[in-house]
Amino acid sequence: MGAGEGGGSEVGDMSEADDVAAGDFSSWVVGMQETIRSGHDSDVPCDGCTACCTSSQFIHIDPDETDTLSRIPEELLFPAPRLPRGHVLLGYDERGHCPMLVDNQCSIYEHRPRTCRTYECRIFPAAGLDADDDDKVLIARQARRWRFTFPTRSDRDRHDAVRAAATFLDEHSDLLPDGGAPTTVTQRALLAIDVHDVFLRRDEETDRTTVVDPDPVAVRVEMVRRRGPRDAT
Ligand code: SF4
Repeated sequence: MGAGEGGGSEVGDMSEADDVAAGDFSSWVVGMQETIRSGHDSDVPCDGCTACCTSSQFIHIDPDETDTLSRIPEELLFPAPRLPRGHVLLGYDERGHCPMLVDNQCSIYEHRPRTCRTYECRIFPAAGLDADDDDKVLIARQARRWRFTFPTRSDRDRHDAVRAAATFLDEHSDLLPDGGAPTTVTQRALLAIDVHDVFLRRDEETDRTTVVDPDPVAVRVEMVRRRGPRDAT
């Protein structure tokens, strides 16, 4: 999330006509897969935008994030529903603002939760989805400003594959592993990015890729492989 140093411009001041360069699609999506799989920081040019810190979001914090947990008053945290003991959520105030946002900047930026470090609103245009919750108007507005570039055929193919994956996940949630079906637009966008390679086929002779409609079993297998043996039921 983007409430780092240099914050200041309010999303509400932004015009939707103000396009923001999102980078070449292939480079971005491969980097985003790495972020999803490793939990490393995402590199988002937020430029002072705090939409994700002011949009009534519950911030999940893992038990191993001890440094982060030590910076947040206990009374602001509560157990995360349906997750094992130790997983907690950081809520928001009556304005929908994260309580750690002070003077439009994250007061624990260097120690912010992993959820914030990996958050990326480019996932929405990448997957052809809108952050459509009423509370997420600012995020949706910011997300619509991103403009990817597609200098190669591969950029286009990957973009089409991510969108195809997002549609598939919406239409075939019953075929996904137990507990694997996304329940929010954000989860669907992230999962589509993570598994989109299954929707691409490379011709060995020409080395060209095409977007394909995969066997649902192949998608399920890829999800299980990505998420580990706990989902192999
Ligand atoms: S902890 Fe709160 S203020 Fe800091 S980046 Fe996360 S959501 Fe924003």
